Amino acid sequence: MPMRLEGIHHVTCITGDGPRNVEFYARVMGLRLSKKTVNQDDPTAYHLFFTDEQGSHGSDLTFFEYPGSTPGRAGAGMIHTIVYRVGSEDSLAFWEERLAGEGVPSERSPGRLRFQDPEGLGLELVVVETTDEPLIAFAADVPDEHALQGFDAVRAYVANPTSTERLLRDFMGFQAVAPHDWEARGESRGGHIALEAIQQRGTPGAGTVHHVAWASPDEEHAEWRKQVESGGMHATDIIDRFYFRSIYFREPNGILFEIATEGPGFTADEPLESLGEKLSLPPAYEQLRPQLEPILTPLPDTRKWRRAGVPSS
Ligand code: ZN
Repeated sequence: MPMRLEGIHHVTCITGDGPRNVEFYARVMGLRLSKKTVNQDDPTAYHLFFTDEQGSHGSDLTFFEYPGSTPGRAGAGMIHTIVYRVGSEDSLAFWEERLAGEGVPSERSPGRLRFQDPEGLGLELVVVETTDEPLIAFAADVPDEHALQGFDAVRAYVANPTSTERLLRDFMGFQAVAPHDWEARGESRGGHIALEAIQQRGTPGAGTVHHVAWASPDEEHAEWRKQVESGGMHATDIIDRFYFRSIYFREPNGILFEIATEGPGFTADEPLESLGEKLSLPPAYEQLRPQLEPILTPLPDTRKWRRAGVPSS
């Protein structure tokens, strides 16, 4: 059996404004702020994770916060849009109206709704026929049937699609589902990456995507490192991120890819019921808590935006 990636594990982006970011994703979009931790490569910066109710990979949108960082712009070698699944055309209508009420313009076409977050990050909701489990969060004022259901895809700009497509097809087990649209499908779910050829370079910064992570069963993770190296990529060693293990490499057009293990997940250091309510620091950083807590930006308490009294499992 060839190894298969289980779709998108997480997508990590940059925000220059943590409080506004939390307000948008936790209140407006109804996601659960399920982990509030620091960037393990720069512990003075927040790393915020927005997920479904269970903290599942496959629903995990994350942000490094660099307060006041200048806005970036997506270009060749960057992901420009993050695509979430929703249940129906009625859900698109719900979101079109909800976003309009927040002053967020959106563009509706059959089966999809496109808009941007407050920093210009491209977002898209699509109605997808799939048997993949919906990964939803329980928000106070988003009906479950309209909730975001986890990632469908990322859309990326690349200078030369052929070289990326060769890697995806020959070394990462992706299959073409449409022209320049490639899916990784594992046992539990799938996720895809759609490529668009442009030459113009972008600028990293607030409102841009930092990297996309693909999900690997824990026991196959070490093998994936060898696999992508055999495809000519220069992968990092396996890094223990405490909530998962990761390798990183730049695909041929420069997009930063990560392959992350499915486990152990966000309940490794706090119970499911109270995920994300306090600052979580991996053991190696716990000693820095007295220095870090005063310099990290105060964030809104997201509990008021969550539905009260729901069972946690
Ligand atoms: Zn990552």
